[in-house]
Amino acid sequence: GTFTHQFDTPTYKGTVSVNLGLFINGEFVDPVDHETIEVINPATGKVITSIAGGSAKDIDIAVNAAKKAYKAAWGLKTPGSVRGKLLNKLADLLEEHIDELAALEALNTGKTFATAKAADITGAIKTFRYFAGWADKVHGKTIETTDQKFAYTRHEPFGVVGQIIPWNFPIVMLAWKLAPALATGNVSILKPSEITPLTALKVAGFINEAGFPPGVVNIVNGYGSKAGQAISEHLGISKVAFTGSTLTGRKILKAAAESNLKVVTLELGGKSPTIIFDDADLEQAVKWASHGIFFNMGQVCTAGSRIFVQEGVYDAFLQKFTAVAKFLETAAGDQFTPTTKHGPQVSSGQFDRVMSYIGSGKAEGATVHAGGERLGTNGYFVQPTIFTDVTKDMKIVQEEIFGPVGVVLKFKTEEEVIEAANDTTYGLAAHIFTQNISRAIRVTNALEAGSTFVNCALTSETSVPFGGYKQSGIGRELGEYALDTYTQVKGVHINI
Ligand code: NAD
Repeated sequence: GTFTHQFDTPTYKGTVSVNLGLFINGEFVDPVDHETIEVINPATGKVITSIAGGSAKDIDIAVNAAKKAYKAAWGLKTPGSVRGKLLNKLADLLEEHIDELAALEALNTGKTFATAKAADITGAIKTFRYFAGWADKVHGKTIETTDQKFAYTRHEPFGVVGQIIPWNFPIVMLAWKLAPALATGNVSILKPSEITPLTALKVAGFINEAGFPPGVVNIVNGYGSKAGQAISEHLGISKVAFTGSTLTGRKILKAAAESNLKVVTLELGGKSPTIIFDDADLEQAVKWASHGIFFNMGQVCTAGSRIFVQEGVYDAFLQKFTAVAKFLETAAGDQFTPTTKHGPQVSSGQFDRVMSYIGSGKAEGATVHAGGERLGTNGYFVQPTIFTDVTKDMKIVQEEIFGPVGVVLKFKTEEEVIEAANDTTYGLAAHIFTQNISRAIRVTNALEAGSTFVNCALTSETSVPFGGYKQSGIGRELGEYALDTYTQVKGVHINI
């Protein structure tokens, strides 16, 4: 079936339609088991529509279609320039429909229409264009061994890749996965999060319109335990790329190990530090630290959730940081109200999870410096929350909350804060605020994190590699590095 929604809001007026089926072999089809999954508006808790949910049977059908497409019309059979042209055409279509996509993304995730448009849809478009540019620039090397012999390398696609994505930035994650995979000549079975499937379904329609051969991109919605598990176990899939929780990442790695040893790349969780030294520009530090933990209602894998402040600026920082949290609370609202700066958590499950961490912080004796309660009575809103008087063994300091909840810790010395910042099983990102360039670089080098940000936060550049140290992941996305993770290298030996 089709879902059609008439938006008549202060920020967006228009009609948006999406096909609700599974997108397999260039067609929208019903799942074999006819399962449906409800999609909820998190600002109200009300059902938006129901989408088709796939199972192992549908994944199998999709893998067969993808294999055929790979052999007949994709891989290195299609010149890189042609693959790049199709990716650019897809980007053009997203650009033409940017308002519709932003409206759908906002409705489904709870982020505002303005943010969805400026950050999410725009970010997805940039990603498709960036990798479109790489599509005809993937090539190997010649290695001279002796006068009589040489070798060369070929960077070959894997073939069918499985891609499993989360709900916090649905269309951005889709682009981070599809764009490099297609640019390097792979075909994909992509599974969106069952919580936020709508923009992916809209993109599926544009895949056909752009002119990709049927079966090159298959978008199969479904639960993680069904369609997701089936992707990680399928013998016809050579690589799985996953973004989501560390717990699910372990399951996927295990399923890959026990099936066909498919290559696995993982982008997982974090508990990233934000470190503010006495010599920081305080206004900037407050601005970025707040953005770092409250943007997207804290549902960001690189969120700066542990905020370390040097003793000289601790009081001044805390006062200004608290003011931001209180302001955001007053600016809470729905996706389509122009003044909204703070939205709901994405789902009731996520709301419960965040509230339970807040409860645990209180029970363990931390001080609630701001927030700490549910916000309003409709939907899944949580007050922007700041905890102080925390100790390093508390759950709210150790575990990823994935909500608008920051813990603030005081420190004295650089050595002490480096040790405390690294005292986590995660290693996704770190943020450092100082005016001293030597200190910034020294601390950056000492931190165990895949990305560090000096005097900024949550900046994402398509050209810069992204991924985790420690239990935050395996492999890198974005930049030239992404081409390596979507190709396998063949060494070819020639005897003259
Ligand atoms: P999740 O792990 O529950 O789900 C992510 C995806 O995996 C969904 O599509 C889900 O259906 C699927 N899935 C669930 N169980 C599965 C299984 N057994 N086999 C295969 N697939 C399965 O995570 P979430 O709750 O959607 O997202 C929040 C988490 O994701 C947070 O921990 C966050 O840090 C992390 N995250 C990381 C990044 C990153 O780039 N590192 C980005 C966004 C989110």
